[in-house]
Amino acid sequence: MKVVVIGGGPGGYVSAIRLAQLGAEVVLIEKNKIGGTCLNVGCIPTKVLLHTAEIFRTMKKEGEELGVKAENLKLDWQTLQDRKINIVNQLVEGIETLIKSNMIKKIIGTGKFIGKNKIQVTSPDGRIETIVFDKAVIATGSRPKKVPIPRINEHGVITSTEALQLESIPKSICIIGGGVIGCEFASIYRAFGVDVTIVEALPDLIGTMDIDIVNVLKEQFTEDEISIHVNTKVEAIKASEDGLIIQVSTPNGKEEIQSEKVLLSIGRTPIVEDIGLEEIGVKIEKGAITVDRRTMQTSVENIYAVGDCNGGILLAHVASSEGVLAAESIMGKKPSVNFKAIPSGVYTKPELASVGLNELEAKTKGYQVKVGVFPLYANGKSLIMGEEKGVVKFVVDSQTDEILGMHMAGPRATDLIVEGALALRLEATIDEIISTIHGHPTIGEALHEAAHAVHSTAIHLP
Ligand code: FAD
Repeated sequence: MKVVVIGGGPGGYVSAIRLAQLGAEVVLIEKNKIGGTCLNVGCIPTKVLLHTAEIFRTMKKEGEELGVKAENLKLDWQTLQDRKINIVNQLVEGIETLIKSNMIKKIIGTGKFIGKNKIQVTSPDGRIETIVFDKAVIATGSRPKKVPIPRINEHGVITSTEALQLESIPKSICIIGGGVIGCEFASIYRAFGVDVTIVEALPDLIGTMDIDIVNVLKEQFTEDEISIHVNTKVEAIKASEDGLIIQVSTPNGKEEIQSEKVLLSIGRTPIVEDIGLEEIGVKIEKGAITVDRRTMQTSVENIYAVGDCNGGILLAHVASSEGVLAAESIMGKKPSVNFKAIPSGVYTKPELASVGLNELEAKTKGYQVKVGVFPLYANGKSLIMGEEKGVVKFVVDSQTDEILGMHMAGPRATDLIVEGALALRLEATIDEIISTIHGHPTIGEALHEAAHAVHSTAIHLP
């Protein structure tokens, strides 16, 4: 079986490896760098900056309280940029090695279908190669959404890609879009002393997450003097002597925000053009490739689509899991992945993480809901770490005691959420969390206490 994979991001390269493991002859086509958005301009580089931001703010704000005196603390932006590049390169090289060891043929070039079993690859030097295949996996990813704001292309208006590699730290940045990416950049730049303003059209930041955990982030942002404008729409951006003026309409009328840089982070859009999809009959709806979510098959039987390009949940681990599912469907294997519980994380200060239904979603779906909430100020490890701002919340079906969702704001939330994911996957009841012994002293104890709080039996709450 010869399978062509188009796109070397976490959807494409993982699918290629799984296909090779299952015995397929695999060709992986990538027009840019292996690793895609995630490794090169997404998950990894943002987290490198966030890691240093976290250390810097701890040393600056809380260092003395922790017993650390760091005089003349300075950020070396260039060293940080070099470290970011080194980590990205190290990870990309690791994947290149895996591609070789799995005997996958890698071609650098742009792929375009010219038939249901034929693809043309144009290499950077203009050479054209045609490959005949049995099956194909499309994993072309997504790009930042553009908005029809007048003068949006003014110098100084950037996307997340440029925000990762600015030559120097700006004095001020206005972030349009208070979703996950916008909030992560707000955390990064504020830690480095930049004046940060967030403009969000919706009534709240990170609208997909449980209000109780978003409130913890808003409290921290307010304490950090990040200016947040919700229910606010950008009308125009114009250049001024000191940078840019962003004209916005707020519930209280029109306002102007002055900023050196404007970061546009209003979401991402699937890449579906110029790949020859319409010509071979692959169905596209609302700008994304339509797939059967049980197999990842498109409307053309031998062609599959995984990751951001199919417009599902735009997360790297979802792309990779879909890549595995597509490979297993192609090779006639029983699926090894289950999409019941998909954790999501926001790597801000404090971190937010979520899996399953939030309280509002559960009620909207008609569940009778019980919740258990435990604040981190009552957790020993959080106090040791000086990170007592946070909360753990379980949402439970009050008729069956089955866990419907887990939500957390606080240190290591993005790691700890896996306990909630496993609980949901195993259809665990809240009593199964309660009967599981959690180590001491850990932040994990707060999960245990939040589970107890569902029955009003938390030990360390009055
Ligand atoms: P991509 O990673 O976008 O890869 C697609 C690849 O296809 C690209 O390399 C592209 O060059 C190639 N390609 C496109 N067209 C062609 C063609 N015609 N021929 C050949 N090659 C082609 N997700 C998380 O889970 N956690 C995070 O912390 C996180 N942080 C993020 C931070 C930022 C700033 C951004 C922008 C995204 C973040 N994401 C995060 C989202 C994550 O990066 C994406 O969901 C993930 O990369 C999608 O994987 P993919 O394989 O579908 O697409």
